[in-house]
Amino acid sequence: MGKARSGYNKGFDQREEVQVPMAPSDSGNKPPNSQAQSKGTKPPSNFIRHLIEQDLASGKYEGRVHTRFPPEPNGYLHIGHAKSICLNFSLAEEYGGHCNLRFDDTNPAKESQEYVDAIKENILWLGFQWQGEVRYASNYFDQLYDFAVQLINSGKAYVCSLSPHQAREFRGTLTEPGRNSPDRDRPIGENLDMFERMRQGEFTDGEYSLRAKIDMAAPNINMRDPVLYRIRHVNHHQTGDRWCIYPTYDYTHCLSDAIEGITHSLCTLEFEDHRPLYNWILQNLDLDSIRRASDLADTEFRYVLPEQTEFAKLRINYTMGGKRNLKDMVETGVVTGWDDPRMNTLAGLRRRGVTPAAIRNFCEMVGVARSESVVDMSMLEHCIREDLDNNAPRVMCVLAPLKVTLSNVEAAQEMVLTMPNHPKIEAMGYREVPFSREIYIDRSDFEVEPPPGFKRLMPGGEVRLRGAYVIRCDEVIYNADGEVSELICSIDPDTLGRNPEGRKVKGVIHWVSASAGLPARVRLYDRLFLVENPEDKSLEDYRDGLNPDSLVELTGCVVEPSVRATETRAGFQFEREGYFCIDSLDSDDDSLVFNRTITLRDSWKPAGQG
Ligand code: ATP
Ligand code: MG
Repeated sequence: MGKARSGYNKGFDQREEVQVPMAPSDSGNKPPNSQAQSKGTKPPSNFIRHLIEQDLASGKYEGRVHTRFPPEPNGYLHIGHAKSICLNFSLAEEYGGHCNLRFDDTNPAKESQEYVDAIKENILWLGFQWQGEVRYASNYFDQLYDFAVQLINSGKAYVCSLSPHQAREFRGTLTEPGRNSPDRDRPIGENLDMFERMRQGEFTDGEYSLRAKIDMAAPNINMRDPVLYRIRHVNHHQTGDRWCIYPTYDYTHCLSDAIEGITHSLCTLEFEDHRPLYNWILQNLDLDSIRRASDLADTEFRYVLPEQTEFAKLRINYTMGGKRNLKDMVETGVVTGWDDPRMNTLAGLRRRGVTPAAIRNFCEMVGVARSESVVDMSMLEHCIREDLDNNAPRVMCVLAPLKVTLSNVEAAQEMVLTMPNHPKIEAMGYREVPFSREIYIDRSDFEVEPPPGFKRLMPGGEVRLRGAYVIRCDEVIYNADGEVSELICSIDPDTLGRNPEGRKVKGVIHWVSASAGLPARVRLYDRLFLVENPEDKSLEDYRDGLNPDSLVELTGCVVEPSVRATETRAGFQFEREGYFCIDSLDSDDDSLVFNRTITLRDSWKPAGQG
């Protein structure tokens, strides 16, 4: 006894320990009516699983399933990335394959080590482990250069002198074909020489580029002699000053997949029009040279090129997606940083108290489709709530304290009540909750002139203190401004774990011992946007759609001391208030700082039940 009370109860001489079973009216919130997400059930199938199963059946990759998650380290991961992470890693796991983590780092000016580190941490936090070492597309820069030389040698690439601006003009439009670059027929020897000089740093940014020689009249603009290399005199977070030419995304991505022996290259729909280029590059190189450069070089496997398959991006209403938008919010101070608990970044969700399991369940529930749709935010909130409902220990915290003196409890009479950590899960154990003469209840649980139907405390009325006694309000004390400053109440000593005799007390309120409670600051977070689509072009500025009350900070709250005892920083349910977690940043004063993860009320209905 007493281990959780460290010093808060000094001076008490009389101790009782009472185990209080939860009365029926005293239980926690109901489980949400959800589709079962229990472990062990087979995840729903989708077109990508079908495709993989077809490939396995036909023996196309000799039983191999090798996926990759390829983030560009130019920002933090967001909930959309989680969909791609869950998809790639889970498929590999499910089919006994592998999933690589590869940084797609071809645009060093916008990338940084900070992002690399945060991305790795986020993936591990979500519960996934990549195969082997972390990969970087920049690991392959030498190899990519050699492949480019190969394309030049076979007359399939050339050095072009058009400026980026001119190149755009020459490219044509959706309705008009493009025009050939004046350098398109530059002799091979000259191309080789120029490309080498590009690499040596002889030219300035944008002076030349290396382009694939495909077809300036192709209906797909991506096939109109796309740029493979551009000159950028910038330092790279992985390769330092070694390179001043950098390969483009399209050129790099397919080759990185091929080098790593990827089988199923899953990406989002905007790359559908890039697929012909993905295939063109791979098919116009000597297959054996790719094989020799690949991770399969020293294996028995027959070499088969990777294939790209597209799926719809995850979009959620009331949020902004896209690193560019998120970065803007960080840089213009709309939020406090990438890990602001209102951000839909993985770092923000984590700091908000969202669990990895909730995100994984959500991604599974969202599923994978080929057409774009917008997912309702309340579905994500439902998943967050469901996981916390099942796993978060219950505690009591009074957000707006009103002092209550229990006149028939002796000052010296301290009791430690024992309450279950979870109303339905016995295995979560019990906690000790100090009870004393002076307690706090929430101001909103008392009304001098209660509205009809009010079931909580009022002058002369009774209410149950959760897990403790029924109390009656005998006297209301006002301060000089005429505000209620304290209540004098009395307990009915026969009501501990028992209903009172001869009368019904309907209301149950939470409370915290004034002497043993801990001071807390509580941040009430809400949706960052009030508008369904902050990216809507009709909105002049997305800031116009912000929720002015997305953060309300409360000071002077009081929380029961058992929160100190939990080893983990996992979330809590503050009874009747919502789910909260201790903020990861230490507070600058003595108070504990809690972030509200989510409220208790679930508004989401699974399809067909609404
Ligand atoms: P953003 O627009 O946020 O910058 P991106 O696609 O440019 O996204 P990358 O770092 O290139 O970001 O993405 C890594 C992987 O995550 C890619 O395969 C990409 O297709 C996928 N991805 C990005 N956003 C989403 C999303 N909203 N839903 C599903 N997958 C996504
Ligand atoms: Mg990108």
